[in-house]
Amino acid sequence: MPINLFVSHTIIISLAFICLGMMFWSFVEYTTHRFVFHWTPQNRFLKLLVFISHGVHHAYPQDVSRSITPLVISLPLASIFYFLFTLVFNTYAGGVFTGFLLGYFLYTIIHDSAHHFPMNYPVLKQIKRNHLRHHYFDDSKNFGVTHAFWDLVFKTPVKTKQLKKSH
Ligand SMILES: [Zn+2]
Ligand SMILES: [Zn+2]
Repeated sequence: MPINLFVSHTIIISLAFICLGMMFWSFVEYTTHRFVFHWTPQNRFLKLLVFISHGVHHAYPQDVSRSITPLVISLPLASIFYFLFTLVFNTYAGGVFTGFLLGYFLYTIIHDSAHHFPMNYPVLKQIKRNHLRHHYFDDSKNFGVTHAFWDLVFKTPVKTKQLKKSH
């Protein structure tokens, strides 16, 4: 294979795995928020862990220092995901993990912006509106922060009908 064809082939494959990592992050963003962060365990230690991870953000939504999951929790989780990626994707694990981290950083930026900036562009405005409805209207809905895709798939978006009833 000529060298430039090999390089472009490698770039395309790497980009595909980065995209896969980002898509996987979007699923983790939704499922973690829905099933872990809004879980109400009986065990006091687990209850505290869930509160530190996310409950504190609901208690103080405007406090930027409490909106990011602490590194003592996120770093071990990132290591576990990297390990799992190496098992499944072998030499492509780096690409998938890069996309996964990109998704996480994008999530962090968008989430903080939704709480602290006006976000006037239509798509961004919709993201902000969806997330603030999770905080101030129904915290058992709208679990996707950067997107509504998985909320639509699993039928958990706040419905406009619900909003009208509450007024
Ligand atoms: Zn939030
Ligand atoms: Zn939440």
